[in-house]
Amino acid sequence: MAAVQLSGIFKRYGDTQVVHGIDLHIDDGEFVVLVGPSGCGKSTLMRMVAGLEEISGGELTIGGTRANALAPQQRNVSMVFQSYALYPHLSVYDNIAFGPRIRKESASNFKPRIEAAAKMLNLSGYLDRLPRALSGGQRQRVAMGRAVVREPSLFLFDEPLSNLDAKLRVQMRTEIKALHQRLKNTVIYVTHDQIEAMTMADRIVVMNAGRIEQIGRPLELYDRPDNLFVASFLGSPSMNFAEGEVVAGDGGLALLLADGLRIALTGTPASQTLQPGAKVTLGVRPEHIETGAAQDGMPMTIDVVEPTGAETHLYGKIGGNPWCVTSRERASVEPGQRVSLRLPAEHRHLFDTGSGRRLA
Ligand code: ADP
Repeated sequence: MAAVQLSGIFKRYGDTQVVHGIDLHIDDGEFVVLVGPSGCGKSTLMRMVAGLEEISGGELTIGGTRANALAPQQRNVSMVFQSYALYPHLSVYDNIAFGPRIRKESASNFKPRIEAAAKMLNLSGYLDRLPRALSGGQRQRVAMGRAVVREPSLFLFDEPLSNLDAKLRVQMRTEIKALHQRLKNTVIYVTHDQIEAMTMADRIVVMNAGRIEQIGRPLELYDRPDNLFVASFLGSPSMNFAEGEVVAGDGGLALLLADGLRIALTGTPASQTLQPGAKVTLGVRPEHIETGAAQDGMPMTIDVVEPTGAETHLYGKIGGNPWCVTSRERASVEPGQRVSLRLPAEHRHLFDTGSGRRLA
């Protein structure tokens, strides 16, 4: 088991810096997900932890030992990649046994570990098969089997589910989580998929352009995003935003949007600190918006109605921005119709438009 500490880690390729001073502590046994858009530096960070990429600066410790200069095999980490990279001519058993054999372990030593891993991963009936006779999910489980038999103190997963179809991805998500609950090892998991991050992580690290935007438990980040980037990255359909200027009115402060629409800010968390003239972005998640026929709400003309089965997504525009409202109910409205939106004060988020920061 191993805690991992990254202190001021950065990475340069030639003159280009792609990871800018990452500070992150991962507890022993914790499942941490690095999430962010493609190119934000997740894989580079992970590969530096694995020892596959040189660390340009900063300090990495694994299990309390400085690891910057350790070779990958000295770090006691196992990595599972997006491409399973199984040996096509070797059976499932031999694929899993490949590492222990390379390390010249005796079969009596590794055979029980392979059998235990196969049982845990539901591969016991497939040990004699070649990879081509397996489904995508089974192949991914073999790749995990290879990682598990090393009994590493640290598991690294780099987008392991990206090549699987949607249904299998959901299933493997649960399996990896269950595996972690059994093994209680430290996991760093990289994905660009916010649903994977939300469902699997003990803690999520949201990255953007080589920096950490926010670290926290999934629902903490969802309920209280620190900035506009995190607010828009987590959640699907994503949070709705309306940019405007704070104005004083009869009933108190309001947000005046570009199209002339006014949203009263009464009761909105953090609105007491605002001054007229401030440029502010209001955010509301689609599931928190209430719709009705009332006159006092915000009018929105429906452009598109999307039934997903479990819920309905209504799309329109507010202040020139696309907005989405989700509802558990089957839609009784059609494109072209107007609905009235109510934005419950306690579910509103306010951000400073210039810096993108959440207003406390
Ligand atoms: P992510 O995993 O978040 O998609 P990466 O860590 O793969 O992002 O890449 C981060 C940035 O580093 C990207 O801009 C990418 O183009 C750049 N990069 C990655 N590998 C190299 C390399 N070997 N040489 C130069 N630039 C690289």
